[in-house]
Amino acid sequence: MIAADAKSSAKRKVASLAFWSIIIAFVVMGLKFVAWRMTGSVALYSDALESIVNVIAASAAFWAIRVSHKPADPEHPFGHHKAEYFSAVLEGVLIGVAAVLIMMEVARHWASPPALDQPWNGLVVNAVAAAINAVWALLLIRVGTNEKSPALVADGRHIMADVVTSVGVIAGLIGAVTTGWHVLDPLLALLVALNILWEGWKVVSSSVDGLMDRAVEPDETIRIRDIISSNAQGAIEVHDLKTRMAGRATFIEFHLVVQSDMSVAESHVICDRIEGALKKEIPSVRVIIHVEPDDEAKLPKGTASVPFA
Ligand code: ZN
Ligand code: ZN
Repeated sequence: MIAADAKSSAKRKVASLAFWSIIIAFVVMGLKFVAWRMTGSVALYSDALESIVNVIAASAAFWAIRVSHKPADPEHPFGHHKAEYFSAVLEGVLIGVAAVLIMMEVARHWASPPALDQPWNGLVVNAVAAAINAVWALLLIRVGTNEKSPALVADGRHIMADVVTSVGVIAGLIGAVTTGWHVLDPLLALLVALNILWEGWKVVSSSVDGLMDRAVEPDETIRIRDIISSNAQGAIEVHDLKTRMAGRATFIEFHLVVQSDMSVAESHVICDRIEGALKKEIPSVRVIIHVEPDDEAKLPKGTASVPFA
């Protein structure tokens, strides 16, 4: 009951952060468009454009987090965890689109960069937007990592890329205004586009691991093997261990070899003991154990403890 309460409060925390992300994305987008209108800067335009992507991405993340927390149902008996990867991949693609749009704008203004109106006012407005984003991104990444929510982490990383964008824009504007070298404006916008492209690639590639049912990290595999071995007393061998990650959930399956004449009830006691130990150590774990008679063993008989093949 306590565990269930903790789980539902974590779920509410993730969902409410995802909701506030949409509100904050709108506020930041508004500030950035104001900053662009004040100055006419290519770099500020690029920054504002990228923030539209943030609004869409934050909405997609909110949807994905709600779906991924739904319990399993007859159509999705393994749960809905992977919904979060859709939003992360969509976010990566949107980052790519924003980068292309920025590069088009850079190309358009390369030969004759515009002189800037009210540069210092625009700079202050953009800096305020960047500061809001930086605080929010750090919070999303921290909570997303703790709650194993790829959508929140992707959202946080994206917003952090946006902060880097804004810092580049501000540096570019200061340079352009103080030196009169206006080409700095589109040049910085170009660097910013390359940076967010790299960030988009990282978001997509981390989600691909989840979509491709990548195994848990080697350290975690060793830990899982230890837990199984030290709770499999009465069995002969464990083999064919497979693990995969899906959002917050870890799926584990393996074969458990027992004496051929062991009763179903006895072997079930061993299975329940292993399952219980894994559930205690690993959050949101699903365990499937396939019991086999001793002629399926891969190791020679008479080995001590319960070895892995
Ligand atoms: Zn087997
Ligand atoms: Zn059972």
